[in-house]
Amino acid sequence: MDVLPYERSRASFSVEKLEKIITKSNAKVIEQFAPLFDEPVFHNQEEDILLSYEDHFKKSIERVSRSFEIIRENPEFMIAHMKQKIQMETFFDHNGIFLHFSMFLNYLKSQANKEQLRYWNAEARQGNFIGAYAQTELGHGSNVRGLETLATLDLKNKEYEIHSPTLTSLKWWPTGMYACTHAMVFAQLIINGENKGLHGFMVQLRQPDGSLMPGVELGEIGPKLNFSSNNIGYCRFTNVRIPMNRLFSKYSKVIETTGEYIAAPRSLSKFRYISMMLARTSIVRIAYKMCAKACTIAIRYSAVRLQGFKNKSSGSSEEHYVLDYKMQQYRLFKGLAYSYCLLWNARYIHSYIKGIQNRLEDGDNSAADDLPELHATLSGLKATATVTAHDNIEEARKCCGGQGFLMSSGIAKLSPDFAEWVTVEGEQVILSLQCARFLLKAVKQVQSKSSTLTETVRYIGETQSDKNKNINVITPSGILSLLKMRARNLAWRLTEQYDQQKGGDKDEALNQCAVIAVKASTAHVQQFMIENNFKAINSFFTDDLAIHTIMMKLLMLHGLQLISENAGDFVGIGSDVFLTSKVLSTVESRINRLMDEIRPDAVSLVDSFGFVDTELKSTIGKYDGNVYEAIVNEASKNPLNNKNNNGKMIGWETYSKVLNLEFLKKTAKEQTQRAVSKM
Ligand SMILES: Cc1cc2nc3c(=O)[nH]c(=O)nc-3n(C[C@H](O)[C@H](O)[C@H](O)COP(=O)(O)OP(=O)(O)OC[C@H]3O[C@@H](n4cnc5c(N)ncnc54)[C@H](O)[C@@H]3O)c2cc1C
Repeated sequence: MDVLPYERSRASFSVEKLEKIITKSNAKVIEQFAPLFDEPVFHNQEEDILLSYEDHFKKSIERVSRSFEIIRENPEFMIAHMKQKIQMETFFDHNGIFLHFSMFLNYLKSQANKEQLRYWNAEARQGNFIGAYAQTELGHGSNVRGLETLATLDLKNKEYEIHSPTLTSLKWWPTGMYACTHAMVFAQLIINGENKGLHGFMVQLRQPDGSLMPGVELGEIGPKLNFSSNNIGYCRFTNVRIPMNRLFSKYSKVIETTGEYIAAPRSLSKFRYISMMLARTSIVRIAYKMCAKACTIAIRYSAVRLQGFKNKSSGSSEEHYVLDYKMQQYRLFKGLAYSYCLLWNARYIHSYIKGIQNRLEDGDNSAADDLPELHATLSGLKATATVTAHDNIEEARKCCGGQGFLMSSGIAKLSPDFAEWVTVEGEQVILSLQCARFLLKAVKQVQSKSSTLTETVRYIGETQSDKNKNINVITPSGILSLLKMRARNLAWRLTEQYDQQKGGDKDEALNQCAVIAVKASTAHVQQFMIENNFKAINSFFTDDLAIHTIMMKLLMLHGLQLISENAGDFVGIGSDVFLTSKVLSTVESRINRLMDEIRPDAVSLVDSFGFVDTELKSTIGKYDGNVYEAIVNEASKNPLNNKNNNGKMIGWETYSKVLNLEFLKKTAKEQTQRAVSKM
């Protein structure tokens, strides 16, 4: 019996319908444009790992360059790409260069004044020059104010001098920087000896012949956790002179004639809040995609992998599919449920923010009231979502046993590839502490009864009442109530610990209770995500009971796993604590039942993510489930597997010098091959 077709026949819902909602016909779009990339340079990408660091880099430059031409030759593809209907990484690993089209362009659009936009934007959009985002330095990352690169105004010559005064001031980590021509460089602006703070400057790094501009030392920082990343740069500036109009001046500016500095308005504009929030939401979407890919590979593989005899005593040779083992289900369905939670959150929050944006554009300023709180919650969300997605990706990899260690599995690469998202664009602890500050503020507001709380933190002001005793822990709303209770408990415990700190420095006080602060932020985000997930299912699937039901099951599984794994967080809630051992065993047995209920839909739930084989790049997660053929086929491409000369080992000439060849001759004589009978 073909295993995966059987698994697919058991679906309780329409995969086609769910897949359409999730991918918006992604497979069809890929099918439409894939022929554009059917050229030798894009072939055999799975063999990249066998290339040297330098050859791999050259290959990625060849692919990127050809992709630029493909985009320019095919306007339809260009539009689909610009509208984000199709991503370049579907066809090849762009090795950081496309950061130019995201972070660099976004920054340009949000920080350049009209004149600067006119000069740079069209060329940048065409990819006629390539820019990196150079903020982090060797000595400072999270502490942005501690960055040391200097931009000193020379009013007489109408120039800034960009200079790296110390070893620690070298720009270090900018993605795509080795293969870029320009960079958005962040430096301390010095005018008449006075530091005006950190500002962004456009600095050219390479000349038209590919060599470096005067005063620029640029390099690549070396092998990283993910082997395919070999285009992350470092840069030292030695008295580099740039014209005054290279300071991005949409908000703050320096008057060219007098050198007078005009600071940006102090408060973050509503629109900047929104663009930062949308950027965070897009990271949640990346987390979804990577987590869902890992689950697709691991669940398909677990559905076909046999291991362990069913009935040992009877001597039967029938084996269990590993997906039928309870622990395998616990680990993989956890990632599956989390993938869906990330997806619905990204969708729900995106449309919510867009709604606020529309209202603001229509002149309804009250729409911005919730933005600071929502922004803080989304900081915590970026941290929690990326950390948890990474945990789930790695867990899914481990669930594939030895094959999960093999690069051709496609899953081994996902974990190191995703790892960077936990750190970039806001390190996990820094963002969680940012979110915790808002929780502290919310508790203070409740304590002082000064103002009403905004929606995302309203639960913090709710009191623990008798009605809590009647919460039904196995319903979605009961689970949400419990998670809110846990988050509230942690927010108040954080405040208690924070208030006990002596001395006036708020950051140091928060540092002293950072452990509970990060916990409180995580709990706040988790209840927020469950609530959004709940709202999203109820608004997206009212007309499809079957999809609604399975989505609710995943939501409940995720919520109940959170409760059971964090039961200690309920300690201290008071005399009406009802997370007793009895309630906990209800939670645990419901988790067990949910795993049984989700099991028949498992393969269909990952099919619904809609990844095509060319995206998964996996021997063990292919749609047809023919894993063993694929693994062996991939191994046969290994250059060590010398097919000529009767498989003579590479390097034998050296190796043989330390072996006793006479002994090998003797033992070889003792072993023969039985003649293979002709059929
Ligand atoms: C793959 C990759 C790509 C990147 N791409 C870019 C890019 O394109 N452009 C760019 O400018 N940068 C880039 N970065 C840099 C990235 O933004 C920084 O690594 C990140 O901001 C963290 O800074 P850091 O490395 O200095 O870590 P640190 O700030 O030194 O953190 C080290 C540890 O100290 C802790 N810590 C630090 N400060 C505090 C605090 N105040 N309170 C509590 N704990 C604290 C952190 O939690 C962490 O555990 C990239 C990094 C990676 C890994």
